[in-house]
Amino acid sequence: MKKLSSAEVKRQNKKRILRYMIRRDTATKPEIAAALQLSLPTVGLIVGELLEAGLLCEIGMQASNGGRPAIALQLIENARLSLGIDITKNHVYFVVVNLRGEIIAGERQEYEFANLLTYYHGLVQRKREFLKKYGIENDSLVGQSCSMPGIVSKNQRWLEYSHIFELKTPMRLNISKDIQYPYMFVNDGTACCMAECYSENMPDSFVYVMLSNTVGGSMVIDKKIVEGKNIRGGEIGHICLVPGGKKCYCGRRGHFDAYCSARVLAEQAGGRVETFFARLEEGDSRLAEVFDEYLDMLALMVYNLHIFTDLDIVIGGYVGSYLAPYLSQLKEKIIRHNIFDESKEFVFLSRYREEAAAVGGALHFIEQFIEKL
Ligand SMILES: [Zn+2]
Repeated sequence: MKKLSSAEVKRQNKKRILRYMIRRDTATKPEIAAALQLSLPTVGLIVGELLEAGLLCEIGMQASNGGRPAIALQLIENARLSLGIDITKNHVYFVVVNLRGEIIAGERQEYEFANLLTYYHGLVQRKREFLKKYGIENDSLVGQSCSMPGIVSKNQRWLEYSHIFELKTPMRLNISKDIQYPYMFVNDGTACCMAECYSENMPDSFVYVMLSNTVGGSMVIDKKIVEGKNIRGGEIGHICLVPGGKKCYCGRRGHFDAYCSARVLAEQAGGRVETFFARLEEGDSRLAEVFDEYLDMLALMVYNLHIFTDLDIVIGGYVGSYLAPYLSQLKEKIIRHNIFDESKEFVFLSRYREEAAAVGGALHFIEQFIEKL
């Protein structure tokens, strides 16, 4: 194995100390040294740099394990922030997360997509107003992510196509000309998956299923999202479950999206998923039937994904956030398909709601910031 240079060792230790402080409320230098098995002079040197960079602060004295009181250190959690924007057909979400990955500002605004300059100008204006409203300075931003339902090019500057946006030819994405910090455009399913990747206690490999107004997904292997040859990896919405079945928005028939997008449920309840689940809970028998069919198709898909990958399946997106009371019902349906007798759980729900894509994209830049320290 290649030996790391002393500069690289120091860089790695700096990241470890910052990550340690991100997980802690306060800590003293001796505590950091003991927890990370580093020498006190090493910790002292790196903490000095983190204080100077404005990432940590001293907040007084703290008794430490019978020894002399030591200076307590704390993360300045809002010292660096990241902005996530999620564009959907009818809405735009703005989210700002801090170094701990906490959402410190978030808003969902009605704003119908149009591939017009006026739309982009309006979006930039809304972004500025949002940042101003929450007192967020451009200087504190380490990045901006912009997610959307479509295929984004590898260089993250073109939207290759999007059925939802009725975009058949590639469109150059220019909406971030005004920004000075790193930015990226990303597929919404991938961005949602990023939110899972950066969450604590997630396995290194899993499959993510996003059940929103469109259905998307991603496969994560050893903490890396599998992009595929054409950056289209994870387009599970267009896996055919029923040849010749219901029409998908892409024009083909029988695709998973046609059976399990949020729209399938919303259409039954005045266009609102929350109304669907409220009525379902009240005991609406017609909706119970619709939902049973929905779960049948979801179970089939989850089983197919699991039997192919032998990985955990994480279900998120708009519908995913309502599934907790129905998880055992879904699991029963999956078991009926399974050729193996599996005692271990492999189906989990995402902890995020509709803000997932915006949060995931924003977390990406927090992670990048820490990695590049
Ligand atoms: Zn399709």
